[in-house]
Amino acid sequence: MEHILSLSYGKDSLACLGAIEKLGWPLDCIVHADVWATDTIPADLPPMVEFKERADEIIKKRYGIEVRHFRAKKTFQDCFYSRVSSKAKKCYAGGIRGWPIRLGQYCFRDLKLPALKEANKRKGIYYLGIAADEPNRFHNLTDTKRSPLVEAGWTEAMCREWCEKNELLSPIYTTATRGGCWFCHNQPVNQLRLLRKNYPEYWALMLKWDRDSPVTFHADGHTVHDCERRFQVEDLGLVPMDRRFRWWDVLEQVSIFDCIKNEEGGRSLFQTNKNRW
Ligand code: SF4
Repeated sequence: MEHILSLSYGKDSLACLGAIEKLGWPLDCIVHADVWATDTIPADLPPMVEFKERADEIIKKRYGIEVRHFRAKKTFQDCFYSRVSSKAKKCYAGGIRGWPIRLGQYCFRDLKLPALKEANKRKGIYYLGIAADEPNRFHNLTDTKRSPLVEAGWTEAMCREWCEKNELLSPIYTTATRGGCWFCHNQPVNQLRLLRKNYPEYWALMLKWDRDSPVTFHADGHTVHDCERRFQVEDLGLVPMDRRFRWWDVLEQVSIFDCIKNEEGGRSLFQTNKNRW
């Protein structure tokens, strides 16, 4: 029977390594499920990709175990451009899925879950990163799913401390780096703003996908292009930042929008999206 650590690279998950060592429990294998945006671009932001690589090296050196990475056969882009069923086609001009808003979280279902299934299909005892002060998650523990943290009495704060001491604290806890996919439709607007600023090539891909998507990025009808327009007027200092944001503030800048043409036939994005504002 193998003993397998299912690693997420979060602090609790990584601290399992320390708790396993402390308890003297066996550890044979470490697995992780990755999501990819395209064939060549991971869904993680570069600081997270670098952290995972660094953590893998540290783990190999200290514990002699190579972390095994699993991924789904498809990428996010594959899913985005895949055809919807004939029943759903009526509502989807172009017949592709687009952003994962209306058809359920297909990104999780078709990308993360298959990778997790692949990673967790070995028979054995799985170690989960559930901390001692997370009793609401204890119901996930069984004879074959055990938490070294609970057994060792390690709380979330202790896990963080252990990761800091062992150079294994993910940048999501110390910087503005987002955990999860950089193209996620659930991320807050400040993360989108940072993505546009720090990774313009990823933002350009988001805009391209947005142009092709039959559904809007957000459930309230706003698109990535709307966010782009918002950020443009913010950059120009034309949106009051001392009170709660209103899309109307962007709308008021329509004359400026008319001067900023998009690449598709010189139409103002605002005019295209006018009915939603
Ligand atoms: S982080 Fe967002 S895009 Fe990625 S799988 Fe989860 S819900 Fe989907």
